[in-house]
Amino acid sequence: MLRPSARIANCVFHFGSGSGAQRAMTGLTLAILVAMAPPPALGQTEDVLQDRRFDAVTWVQNSAEYRMLTEQIFRLALHPLVTALDDTTISADEAQLAEGGFAEKPPAIILDCDETILDNSAYNARNILKNESYSTETWNAWCLEVKAAAIPGSLDFVTRAQALGADIFFITNRRDVVKNATVKNLKKLGFPATSENVLTKNKELGRGDDKISRRAAVAKTHRIVMLIGDSMSDLCSGMNVTETNQRNQTANQKFQQLGSRWIMLPNPVYGGWQQALTEDKQALKLNSNSK
Ligand SMILES: [Mg+2]
Repeated sequence: MLRPSARIANCVFHFGSGSGAQRAMTGLTLAILVAMAPPPALGQTEDVLQDRRFDAVTWVQNSAEYRMLTEQIFRLALHPLVTALDDTTISADEAQLAEGGFAEKPPAIILDCDETILDNSAYNARNILKNESYSTETWNAWCLEVKAAAIPGSLDFVTRAQALGADIFFITNRRDVVKNATVKNLKKLGFPATSENVLTKNKELGRGDDKISRRAAVAKTHRIVMLIGDSMSDLCSGMNVTETNQRNQTANQKFQQLGSRWIMLPNPVYGGWQQALTEDKQALKLNSNSK
């Protein structure tokens, strides 16, 4: 059995010590190694294990439970989708629902990309191994590699949804500079991505983090029957980095949308929930009493 630190790195390169691991390295593996910082020496193993992101990335990369959970979510999502496709009074987008006038428009599903249908855990594993944090530079470089995998269950869902008559849109907070690479990555995995239905972020051009303007653009031509994401801001407005209690109160108010018009994927590694924590954050937010 591999040590935990070996398992987490396995998707990036064959990591380990001793001649056995060295013999296992292929030419491709070596090429990847050249492009990256070297794996941690034995003395760094404890640092890797102590990294607060370690368990989260390990769970995503190695647990059968994560795979089963995302498969389950996407399979279950097909049932409310069939209902929403038939019922033209339904819109999953709050702004469109309030405005009305959407009944005759063709149905569409909006999916977020990262950690909704694209698995970037290899990028997060690299950051742990290199003791680095997220940065726009390394993130964009990762996107340009076109190596993100598909989240289990996502491709089958999208394929079936299309067959049922739903148009597909991808609204991602990846930036314009990696749009072509993102389309390429999605197409490589089998998703019906084009330069038209992949809507990237560009704050200067009015396409901000909150995705509101991009959902509105889709709503002009389509009835939005389902929103799927791993972040609150993928589903509704006003949730882009707000206070933790406010986010939770909003979640409570929106429960009727969950599992029908809104589908939430798990992402234990990063998200708006972290940015919404107060300065003193984790330690003060731990609750040792039942609620
Ligand atoms: Mg996401």
